[in-house]
Amino acid sequence: MKIADLQQRMEEMVHWLATYGADPEGGVTRLLYTSSWTEAQQALEQKMRESGLETYYDEVGNLYGRLTSANPEAGTILTGSHVDTVKCGGKYDGAFGILAGLLALRYLKETYGPPMRNIEVVSLCEEEGSRFPLTFWGSTNITGTAPVNKITQIQDAGEIPFMEAMKEAGFGLGYYRNPRREDILSFIELHIEQGAILEREKIPIGIVEQIVGQKRYTIECIGEANHAGTTPMVWRKDALRGSSQMILSIMESADRIGAPLVATVGKIEMEPNVSNVIPGKATFTLDIRHPQGDVLDAFCAEAIESCYAIARNRGLQVKVEKHMDARPVEMDESLISRVKEICRHQDLPYKLMPSGAGHDAQIMAPHHPTSLIFVPSHRGISHNPAEYTSKEDLTAGVQVLIELLYQLGYEGGEINEIQRTQYVNPNDHDSWSG
Ligand SMILES: [Zn+2]
Repeated sequence: MKIADLQQRMEEMVHWLATYGADPEGGVTRLLYTSSWTEAQQALEQKMRESGLETYYDEVGNLYGRLTSANPEAGTILTGSHVDTVKCGGKYDGAFGILAGLLALRYLKETYGPPMRNIEVVSLCEEEGSRFPLTFWGSTNITGTAPVNKITQIQDAGEIPFMEAMKEAGFGLGYYRNPRREDILSFIELHIEQGAILEREKIPIGIVEQIVGQKRYTIECIGEANHAGTTPMVWRKDALRGSSQMILSIMESADRIGAPLVATVGKIEMEPNVSNVIPGKATFTLDIRHPQGDVLDAFCAEAIESCYAIARNRGLQVKVEKHMDARPVEMDESLISRVKEICRHQDLPYKLMPSGAGHDAQIMAPHHPTSLIFVPSHRGISHNPAEYTSKEDLTAGVQVLIELLYQLGYEGGEINEIQRTQYVNPNDHDSWSG
């Protein structure tokens, strides 16, 4: 397969997979265990078989395509990403990592035959948390960290229980193998950046050093609803005014600390939300991310303290609820060096960077040496039908992946022993993804 063929095939495959769950608006919606999800997995299975791979599912619906080594006990190099999308998402998020893996395995098989270690591509069943209030369902089942107790209690917006949806799609019935994997030597995920840095700097490859830590809160500010005409300013307990001051104070300190810290208030709700009544209650969300755990902790502690101080000054009550507390996750250092070397060798400019978004790689990394590689996203747009990456950039990613899989799978490239770190499942708190 020549580079021009790879480019053309990559682009065709992105458009092909996007027909499963295609929206009238031009986006893609493939929610876990829905019919478009099932059709996409079945079509991928077919494509994997046509590419000469052995295919199988596990009990939760992760789909694998396998290139078996002459010594099947040799362990497995795994690559891939997630097949599910957000509502009206783009064609590349998740899909690119699966298709790149599929193309790379096909290329390696055609060119070099059976590998020294098993190499597999995985189409992970779920990452986004878009149908059920649960994220990383595919990868947490592989690592044995899935919150299995929780799934009996959750349902989608149409009140369909999780277990029912899973069984309806043919999984969770005991037909397939246990999802837990003990044979994985390394996990490699290719993904679009979903940010604008690589495109702005005209760099085709991003090598992720760590995935940022995230904390999410809901902050409820309680004052007193009262008449907008008869209550003098000094007597008011205006919940919105207090909340506004809290938000501004947090944003100003985020500006002071600067990149890579990001702080977002994405949702505000007010009660009674009436034009001639002083707001009695205001509730806002807070999402804070940073690649260093200590910086994140210190910033959040200070932000929350400032909310309490403002509330005290204004005679308001404040309730802070933490929903998510995901620690930053480091990618494997020796794989980072290897990918840097490959980029130099292939004359591809690269950038070492953190990932501001969550990825399956963060679930795998505490268990298996993991590499996360980015390609540029046009204008940084993602989770949107306008998501776009040029075929040249996609193919640069595939070329790096091919070489990395070759070194690890055919040459027996050295792989680190994982240092087990304290694993914190982001789903331990009621979380949502993105
Ligand atoms: Zn993704």
